[in-house]
Amino acid sequence: MSLSQLSVMVVEDHGFQRRMALRLLTDLGIGGLSEAADGHSALHLLEGSSQPPDVLLVDLDMPGMDGIEFIGHVAQRQLARAVVVASALDPALLNTVQTMARAYGLRVLGSVEKPLTRDKLAAVLGSFDDQLHAYDDDEVVEVTVANLRDALANNEIEPWFQPQVELGNGKPVAVEALARWRRNDGHVVRPVHFIPLIEREGMVSELTDHMLAQSCRWKRQWDQQGIRLNLAINVSPQVLGDEGAADRYQEIVRREGVAPNEVILELTESSVMADAARGLGVLARLRLKGFGLSIDDFGTGYSSLSQLSQIPFTELKIDQGFVSGAHKQPRKRAVIEASLDLARKLQLDVVAEGVETVEDWQMLADLGCGMAQGHLIAQPVPGEELPAALGRWRRPEH
Ligand code: C2E
Ligand code: MG
Ligand code: MG
Repeated sequence: MSLSQLSVMVVEDHGFQRRMALRLLTDLGIGGLSEAADGHSALHLLEGSSQPPDVLLVDLDMPGMDGIEFIGHVAQRQLARAVVVASALDPALLNTVQTMARAYGLRVLGSVEKPLTRDKLAAVLGSFDDQLHAYDDDEVVEVTVANLRDALANNEIEPWFQPQVELGNGKPVAVEALARWRRNDGHVVRPVHFIPLIEREGMVSELTDHMLAQSCRWKRQWDQQGIRLNLAINVSPQVLGDEGAADRYQEIVRREGVAPNEVILELTESSVMADAARGLGVLARLRLKGFGLSIDDFGTGYSSLSQLSQIPFTELKIDQGFVSGAHKQPRKRAVIEASLDLARKLQLDVVAEGVETVEDWQMLADLGCGMAQGHLIAQPVPGEELPAALGRWRRPEH
């Protein structure tokens, strides 16, 4: 869908800013425009219209009903398909709003910092198609417990790999294994569509064991081609209650001929913090056996320094929400600087996730960040395509 086919409603109390937004949207060629000066009148308009707009551009700071309350109403009553927040919002808060809206099937495409510009609006509205298609996948791909079980049994779920490279010299040092479900009809299903069900149905250790074993097998092949890479494996929070996990992972890597210190297990910050006390024993045993432990999505989980220092992590992955666009957003840059400082004090390796542009790469290099992962370097690819993907990668010129 081109921008000219989109319909957008601007919800903004400030008259000048509202007119400004409308003018920029007109410049972008957007045909279907409407406006409202506050949340109540916007809801009124939306409820009265037979065709809801594709996108609502919502100011968060409005008198009466603020933008978050407004988005909550829109989501619950299904009055629009997608929302863009017109305020600088840090990724943790944006994440909260996105989660809240998604529960009702409303997409929050992203936030744009004021002053609005044509380019900023074009970038965020341009993702409408992608994000809606990603969402449509949920409906197209019927995921049932039975076909997931079959998928696991028939090896239809496989690891794809995304490189992590050193920022100092561009050298690939590791790959993150990301689960992909390759269906018979050729459809490749991303993990958001099936991992939650796997977790709910108690199949998660089967998935992790499978991902670990398959990834080790690929690693051995690359080793033989002279490509030496560590493996990063995503582990679900449920492992924290799985007393047998440490022994099982040790046995799997031994069987596949890989050393535990070549494997880094990634746990999301929020999952570990929710259950730190219970999980400490499992995490400590994994460390004892030599596995690396990484805090994934760092910055979205609100952990304190004292909590972090108690858990035997070896690596911290800065969440992509703070990384992409950081070179032009001082608040994101501040979070990155604080994360790097913390990592230095706790002697953790650091990976920046979601590096998409040369500018962000350059900023991370200047700040002394250790490793980078993201579309700038390579997309996740099947194992057989990894050597070629690495061959295409060139470190940006300084
Ligand atoms: P994650 O571990 O934080 O993985 C990073 C996600 O960011 C991946 O999405 C990756 O494809 C995507 N990504 C990488 N670079 C960029 C970039 O430059 N820009 C953008 N916009 N995105 C980028 P993916 O593969 O869809 O995985 C989503 C999440 O699913 C993962 O987040 C991880 O939490 C979970 N997951 C994936 N595989 C497994 C698995 O085997 N087990 C478990 N328990 N969770 C998994
Ligand atoms: Mg990860
Ligand atoms: Mg992450």
